[in-house]
Amino acid sequence: MIETSETGRWALAIHGGAGSMTPETMDAASAAEHELALGAALDAGTRVLAAGGTALEAVCAAVSVLEDDPHFNAGRGAVFTYHGTNELDAAVMEGAGRMAGAVCGVTHTRNPVRLARAVMEQSPHVFLSGAGAEEFAREQGVEQVDPDWFATEERWRQLQELKAKKLGWFDAGLKYGTVGAVAVDAAGHVAAATSTGGLTGKRWGRIGDSPLIGAGTYADDRAAAVSCTGSGEQFIRAGVAHEICARIRMGGEPAQAATEAVLAEVGAMGGVGGVIYATPGGETGFAFTTPGLFRARADSGGRREIGVFGGD
Ligand code: ASP
Repeated sequence: MIETSETGRWALAIHGGAGSMTPETMDAASAAEHELALGAALDAGTRVLAAGGTALEAVCAAVSVLEDDPHFNAGRGAVFTYHGTNELDAAVMEGAGRMAGAVCGVTHTRNPVRLARAVMEQSPHVFLSGAGAEEFAREQGVEQVDPDWFATEERWRQLQELKAKKLGWFDAGLKYGTVGAVAVDAAGHVAAATSTGGLTGKRWGRIGDSPLIGAGTYADDRAAAVSCTGSGEQFIRAGVAHEICARIRMGGEPAQAATEAVLAEVGAMGGVGGVIYATPGGETGFAFTTPGLFRARADSGGRREIGVFGGD
């Protein structure tokens, strides 16, 4: 049942990427490390909401923590492109006025989600790319770092592994790790944010679904806030985040059913991944078609859950 927002309730859900992890392929220590990291991001977001902050502030706070954490494929710990660089994409959207901001291909911005928010709030545009986006970042005083900040040995190893296999266009091992957050605040407004390094070995300026408003990220107070992770090409083609919101708004579908239906469409196109959502009524949920999804959620009723594998 969907509760009304007039109770002043808030809720937050986050993800750290869909992937092939199972209890057999990921050891308990690594799963516990990821859970700890997810918990820290969840707490950063819930602190904002518990103090009466907005859903937008909460999703940016949670995603910034995940961007700074090397366990995830966003900000520090982002995957490498084919040419050995880290190129970052992020988007943010709020559901009251459907304002949105996004950036792609940035290489010096410590927290791309903050830059996406600056695009939304300080520019007349929605989507900025590459060098221009970072010129804007410098003008806005958004923190810039040396590109070395993003690089980790594990991601470098994954690139070498991919190149050695000569298997295809990009990482077939489903090592995703994109991060995202969705929230509803006490006023009943929703917001979504997503941030990623994209796919290991990406080239030719490839951009996935994460920073595309309507594909990997969408928020609409008439429906839900949605953040996605998975095989970006199919998520773009299915317009996943907007499609889920459209089914809720126009079809009257429950959020979980709409999410599962759209993920099934992605599956029919050959894609896999995961979705998190939050509704203005205070509901949060997850769905994923990969073996695992790094995920967590909390709400004003005292719920606090963290999961990694399918059965968690
Ligand atoms: N969806 C992201 C992309 O295609 C990857 C991910 O979710 O990890 O860039």
